[in-house]
Amino acid sequence: THFGFRDVAEEEKESLVHKVFANVAGNYDVMNDAMSLGIHRIWKDQFIRSMAPGPGTKLLDVAGGTGDIALRFLDYCRNIHRDSTASVTMVDINPHMLEEGKKRFQTTPYAHTNQADFLVQNAEHLVDIPDESVDVYTIAFGIRNCTHVDRVVKEAYRVLKPGGRFMCLEFAQVDNPVIGKFYDIYSFDVIPALGQIIANDRDSYQYLVESIRKFPPQADFAQIIRDQGFKTIGSGYEDLTFGVAAIHSGFKI
Ligand code: SAM
Repeated sequence: THFGFRDVAEEEKESLVHKVFANVAGNYDVMNDAMSLGIHRIWKDQFIRSMAPGPGTKLLDVAGGTGDIALRFLDYCRNIHRDSTASVTMVDINPHMLEEGKKRFQTTPYAHTNQADFLVQNAEHLVDIPDESVDVYTIAFGIRNCTHVDRVVKEAYRVLKPGGRFMCLEFAQVDNPVIGKFYDIYSFDVIPALGQIIANDRDSYQYLVESIRKFPPQADFAQIIRDQGFKTIGSGYEDLTFGVAAIHSGFKI
């Protein structure tokens, strides 16, 4: 629209998110381990186990970053099903993050196969992904960085085949007051300090912490998913580590 404020705020958010991830791309993996004390690996493993992909699954991993989800997915198919027909398309708005992912894939068994490809795309407009073309859609620690969460979910619905599944792994809200107190200290004091020490970039990590707090609580996000047409089982989500993170899931039926 030409009415001003909203657009400015949206553009600012997009360019801030771009800057943050361009800044952190090079040491993103190290920082992830440092900030989460390695726990993000357990959450991502749990995410893939919850997905339990069958042989030949076609995955679209949105906001794929350096490929953590894609790699775990292909490893699962290979190790559990001895399957080399599963495939993943990783999309990310930031070419620097995808470059790190490509480099990393060079050292995996999938380097010279057609099981993995990379595309620069905005989660809100997956212009190169056709309607009803994927079995599973994942977005891990990406959706809270997007400007319009509802548009992201709507695009997920469009690209999924009937029967397909939307899965999101994201930071969530802790509702236990004791754990919450520790978590507050950790996020507001420790994480920005770690950002300063390890990456010499306090601001980007400060942004990440704030973006976590602004994201809707689990039940509200589950409703956003249903509002776009997905069917959920029960509450539609599963808390991880007292709700520090959560897995949301919905089916296109
Ligand atoms: N999924 C990876 C993981 O779990 O390690 C990467 C997560 S990283 C915290 C968030 C990613 O979201 C970044 O690579 C960033 O570039 C990407 N991103 C942010 N906004 C996006 C958008 N609108 N569309 C697609 N990707 C986006």
